[in-house]
Amino acid sequence: VKPARAPTWPWLQPAQDRWLDAMGTGRLPHAVLVVGPAGIGKRSVADWIAAAMLCESPDRGGACGRCAACALVAASTHPDLSTCGIEEDAASIKVEQIRSLCERFTLKSYRGGRKVSIIDPADALTLSAFNALLKTLEEPPEESLLLLVVTRLERLPVTIVSRCQRLTIMTPARQVALTWLQEQETRADWPLLLDLAAGVPARAAQLAEAGIERVYRDVENALLSGGIDATSMGQTWAKDRPADRLRCLEHCLAAVARQAVSSEPVNNSRRDSLPSSVRLPDSRSVVRLLDSVRETTGRIDGPLNAQLLFESLLVRVRQVFG
Ligand SMILES: [Zn+2]
Repeated sequence: VKPARAPTWPWLQPAQDRWLDAMGTGRLPHAVLVVGPAGIGKRSVADWIAAAMLCESPDRGGACGRCAACALVAASTHPDLSTCGIEEDAASIKVEQIRSLCERFTLKSYRGGRKVSIIDPADALTLSAFNALLKTLEEPPEESLLLLVVTRLERLPVTIVSRCQRLTIMTPARQVALTWLQEQETRADWPLLLDLAAGVPARAAQLAEAGIERVYRDVENALLSGGIDATSMGQTWAKDRPADRLRCLEHCLAAVARQAVSSEPVNNSRRDSLPSSVRLPDSRSVVRLLDSVRETTGRIDGPLNAQLLFESLLVRVRQVFG
């Protein structure tokens, strides 16, 4: 758990305001789903709520940051705050972890105030872990708050979702995101990076740091130059940032599809517009190809060999782009 001060990303403010409103009315839920896309700042909000709930003299902005409880939260040693995440080398949160969390949750508060638990990521529980959690949700202890940090809400059983309130963190408006990104670093290609990050600003900053624009140019060149060697490229792509390759390929193809569908040029201020000399394939085959890219994206972390997945995808790319 991080220090009690409020997270500074501007797009988190609406969610924080909604929580402060609820605190003001005194009608607080026992369980909250903190929902939003990966990288948007859900955990920061959950930590901030936990600090506000445990603070012994909260003010209008949440936790005071000065009391003994705030000091304990900042030092990650508050006895009434517990957290639960995926253990090292595991793929999911196990039933034993949830049982032990729920047991501690039903004990009397050490400091005489609320008890708070954070489960992150709550979309990674095993089925039996969800069942164990359900018992606690059905009979929540007095003065308790369970915060479930969730990226993929569809992975939670309806029985869990229906017993929680929802606090959704929205992707910020494009201009808000671009302004924030320019404040971090002046770059001309933030619009492209923000697209690749599905509108999530902190994710765009990560992609910039990881040098994704080089991968993007690489993928774009492969598409436009034609003559794809599926075998050797499949080998390279499978080894070198496969997920980023797919993200870039999807973005390039979407740009081609837009241009192919419409005779109007794509907004020229966007970096995704293609040179007018490029011969465009017909839009239906590009759209079918886009489906193949998304399908590959869904399978890239699965049991199938990444190199074979890329090879068969690149054969299809070659069929469309020549
Ligand atoms: Zn405090």
